[in-house]
Amino acid sequence: SLEVRGLHKSFGTVEVLKGVDLTVAHREMVFVLGPSGSGKSTMLRCCNRLEEPDSGLILLEGDPVTGKGVNLNAIRQRIGMVFQAFNLYPHLNARKNVTLALRKVRGMSRDEADARAMEALTRVGLADKSENHPSELSGGQQQRVAIARALALEPQVMLFDEPTSALDPELVGDVLAVMREVKAAGMTMLVVSHEMKFAREAADRVIFMDQGRIVEQGPPERIFGAPEHDRTRAFLSRVT
Ligand code: ATP
Ligand code: MG
Repeated sequence: SLEVRGLHKSFGTVEVLKGVDLTVAHREMVFVLGPSGSGKSTMLRCCNRLEEPDSGLILLEGDPVTGKGVNLNAIRQRIGMVFQAFNLYPHLNARKNVTLALRKVRGMSRDEADARAMEALTRVGLADKSENHPSELSGGQQQRVAIARALALEPQVMLFDEPTSALDPELVGDVLAVMREVKAAGMTMLVVSHEMKFAREAADRVIFMDQGRIVEQGPPERIFGAPEHDRTRAFLSRVT
């Protein structure tokens, strides 16, 4: 499980996270919704220490993620992250984009890393694109390579920050299908996304965040069907 307790984060004088508490259970898929600027990305980025929290505690399977003396390499292997911008290396083909971390961080041999990369690319339906460079792939395919790259490290949790927001509508479905498959395989997932239909179908729990706080949370049918807070209702009526 991933546990976030009392998370605070400011940028300058602006308090962006005002005490966030959240637990994502083993194999659970939690969706985070909220207006632009509510702190969703900052919360995710704190979870794998791309941002340094000001205070609070984050635990992964009971092990501290926050605090001094934490091995960031180890944490980032255990907590995979997929971004809106795919962040692939343009000069490397799909396979090498996946093997890079396996070779560098995990110290795998070339053969071992290649085999692992092909396995991950097969999972996301891209075995036949392994030798193509990012520029030769569609946005949806690039995002699936990014997911394969995260999966290949065998993380315990995966964080997704608007993984389909940069994609043409016809490419979104393939990425969501891969996320569904990852969930079915038992991954623990924390997802920021505005794909409401997907959230409704696939989420175990939906969280609504506003102004640096969790305003309400619950099963998707309740959050979408009977939101308790005015701010949640107002947000949902704007986006659905
Ligand atoms: P969106 O839906 O637009 O992605 P969000 O909920 O992900 O929004 P964040 O990106 O977490 O919001 O940003 C929350 C607030 O923190 C915003 O006001 C943003 O301008 C500010 N912020 C984020 N990162 C930084 C930074 N590195 N330096 C200064 N301010 C930042
Ligand atoms: Mg964001």
